[in-house]
Amino acid sequence: MDRQSLKARACAAIDAAGDEIIGLGERIFAQPELGFKEERTAGLVADAFAGLGLPYRSGLALTGLRADLAGGGAAAGAPRLAILGELDSLVCPGHPYADPVTGAAHSCGHNAQVAAMIGVATGLVRSGAAAALGGGVAFLAVPAEEYVEIEYRERLRREGRIRFLGGKQEFARLGLLDDIDLAMMCHLGNRAPGAKVALGGSCNGFIGKLVRFRGREAHAAGAPEAGVNALAAAQVALAALNAQRDTFRDEDHVRVHPIITKGGDLVNIVPADVRMETYVRARTVEAIMDANVKVNRAMRAGAMALGAEVEIVELPGYLPQIQDAAFSEVFRRNAAAVVGEGEIARAGHASHSGDLGDVTHIMPAIQPSIGAVDGAFHSKDFRIVDKELAYLGAAKMMAMTAIDLLADGAEAARSVVAGFRPPFTRAGYLAFWDGLLQGGQ
Ligand SMILES: [Zn+2]
Ligand SMILES: [Zn+2]
Repeated sequence: MDRQSLKARACAAIDAAGDEIIGLGERIFAQPELGFKEERTAGLVADAFAGLGLPYRSGLALTGLRADLAGGGAAAGAPRLAILGELDSLVCPGHPYADPVTGAAHSCGHNAQVAAMIGVATGLVRSGAAAALGGGVAFLAVPAEEYVEIEYRERLRREGRIRFLGGKQEFARLGLLDDIDLAMMCHLGNRAPGAKVALGGSCNGFIGKLVRFRGREAHAAGAPEAGVNALAAAQVALAALNAQRDTFRDEDHVRVHPIITKGGDLVNIVPADVRMETYVRARTVEAIMDANVKVNRAMRAGAMALGAEVEIVELPGYLPQIQDAAFSEVFRRNAAAVVGEGEIARAGHASHSGDLGDVTHIMPAIQPSIGAVDGAFHSKDFRIVDKELAYLGAAKMMAMTAIDLLADGAEAARSVVAGFRPPFTRAGYLAFWDGLLQGGQ
């Protein structure tokens, strides 16, 4: 069967399962869970894999899953394409679907990624298109893309349960990407007139940081002179950081946005234990490290001014994201078949980050943006308003791209892989963060 017929059948199978796929996306939206805690979401994904008859593994990087679909025409050593969906949410207590206990809410739309990933699997399996593919497809449900609850995850690290704070990094560490040659996922974006799909582009990388100021407790009113105020030390540190923001170059897109996660114990005690979390983000690793030196200098300055102590814990963050151009072009043709050429834009540089950035350093990978959202990302106003496009459109674009890459002996996938120049070997990547952090103190 030719590729056009395979694509038509896969899209028809996705449409036929439309209520099921949208229903899954909406169910996940209504039961948000934070990273490395996505137990119920993982259960829904396991049920969906089982329903399609796909063998899968679960409990990967604590809560992740992987199912494999063998291409009917795949020879030994044939390329394998991964379709990814992220399991996690954020915390946005004001969101109408926020979990009443944890405050978790899907205000980044990862629920749609999981539904679209299951949509691709549905399309390839139920249409029978998989039989014609000259390569395999792996479906990866990945935990913890949002880099949050840093203190909690640092504890998991110390307990040896994770080494990296992002799920895709953990998948890489566990060898779950070793047999993958290319990776694809979609992320939702805001609806914008004239551009339902944004392709390519890059985004910031970052390192994570925990900062702890230690002072000395004393009666806050009776004897403040006997104490050392760790909150005041943190305030001076933030002022020192803010004082050098104009030394960050515009082209480096530096973003440093600390929060204080503990500001003291009781109001009538001089704060002696104050904690911050921050990222230090920028467009390049060099710019991240340059900004990092300044941030650390500011933290130490705050402690020095008050006579407090400061402990800075550097944590592996995410690498800048660079999407593969040849791979994006294959996706573009299929996106055009769904939304029309006039609805496709080219993305520029974005200052946010994602752990697909790490994947883009070891294999060709793409993450097109699907404009289906109203309201700000990471806010209580986030709404998926074009459900058809978010859940089914994205699934069709990815299923057709998978067919283009893997039909006809997987010739197109081989060509994309051959043209990719990885900044890292797989082994070199795993050693990278350790070396970077040791050198950046
Ligand atoms: Zn997000
Ligand atoms: Zn996201």
